[in-house]
Amino acid sequence: MVKQMRTIKGTHDILPENSRNWQNLEKIIHASASLSGYSEIRTPIIEEAGLFNRGIGENTDIVSKEMYSWTDRDNKTIALRPEMTASVVRSYIQHNLHNKSVLQRLYYIGPSFRRERPQKGRQRQFHQFGVEAIGSANPEQDAEVIALGWEILKKAGINNLELKLSSIGSKECRNKYKNALINFLKPHVSKLSETSKRRLGNNPLRILDTKNKNEIQIIKSAPKIEDYYTKEDQDHFDQVKIFLKSMNIPFTVDPLLVRGLDYYTQTTFEIISNDLGAQDALLGGGRYDGLIKSLGGKDTPAIGFAAGMERILMALDDTAINKKTTPTIYIVCVDKEALGSLQKLSTNLRKIGYKVLFETLRRSMRAQMRDANKYNADFAIIVGQQELVNKTIQLKNLSVGNQETIELKNVFNYFKSLTF
Ligand code: AMP
Repeated sequence: MVKQMRTIKGTHDILPENSRNWQNLEKIIHASASLSGYSEIRTPIIEEAGLFNRGIGENTDIVSKEMYSWTDRDNKTIALRPEMTASVVRSYIQHNLHNKSVLQRLYYIGPSFRRERPQKGRQRQFHQFGVEAIGSANPEQDAEVIALGWEILKKAGINNLELKLSSIGSKECRNKYKNALINFLKPHVSKLSETSKRRLGNNPLRILDTKNKNEIQIIKSAPKIEDYYTKEDQDHFDQVKIFLKSMNIPFTVDPLLVRGLDYYTQTTFEIISNDLGAQDALLGGGRYDGLIKSLGGKDTPAIGFAAGMERILMALDDTAINKKTTPTIYIVCVDKEALGSLQKLSTNLRKIGYKVLFETLRRSMRAQMRDANKYNADFAIIVGQQELVNKTIQLKNLSVGNQETIELKNVFNYFKSLTF
């Protein structure tokens, strides 16, 4: 027997019964991003691994443990993108996008790859959408980006949302704070987990993110980042909060919010859903003023976020997004002489916005009617021998249940006059 092939661990097919939810979410993303002046950017899924080593940071889990990378035939190290910000920034620099406009408002949708331990809400191939606003250092830009993320999640139909906001200050503040944190944690090192011991050396801020109870206890008396803010850091953060309040976007300040990536400065944020389990982060982002320069571009401020689409769809109750909007007609044809004229009618009805399902299996009338119900059609147009002779159709309104005879030549105008 031939071995059946299956998807590899941590990857999933999106089957026809679910793809409509994906399309609806994508529609919301395209529409909302575009209303705020953001344009879509599509970058390759594979890049030189060095882009992520430099862009995300070699010591992050994403790069050091989870990135899919390999040496290609020409000895270049290639990686599947583990996120998209570094690719967008590479593209921004490569194509001199700053020459086209001093402020680039960009968004993206697509798959990312991380070799994580698969669990609910965590795959090895997952889909992200995100926005990047490159060129403005001002707090109103932070508020605009956060508001856009919030609005998309709301429009998608998620209600139980919480926006967590923090600032990790400028590079100067962050470095001072890092040292203070290391000095504070050193005497506790024997009580730290292996992971945290490792992080103490290469990424100490991540320890603040711990889920370990003993460590949470220790961290309660750790130095606080806000004590290390410069005046500019504090002013920037205060302004962001004021702008969010003026847009009626509720938030909680969470000083322990540490994002996993190295490149953040100033504002960081996360939107979580209280309806999800352990993997409750739907969207995360922040300001990354140093990234463009570190990837070879001009020193340019920027802010963005990335959101996990699988998690968003998981957080939605099915009815919220799976709303049927297009009126549907099922054409039930039991006389093959009528196929030609009915196929033409289908094309014309599609042109005026109807979804039309046309029978191509030449099944019995009963089987076709069963199919019409399965597809939740609003109408069935039924043509048998009798109708063919009389040049009529039977029109069955499947929502109400009544049936009437209409002349074939009037069917198009009949549907054209209906309003939905
Ligand atoms: P990050 O790039 O780590 O800031 O992630 C941004 C968002 O992507 C998270 O808030 C999640 O919603 C989503 N995400 C990250 N990693 C995964 C994964 N392995 N599986 C599913 N979603 C993920």
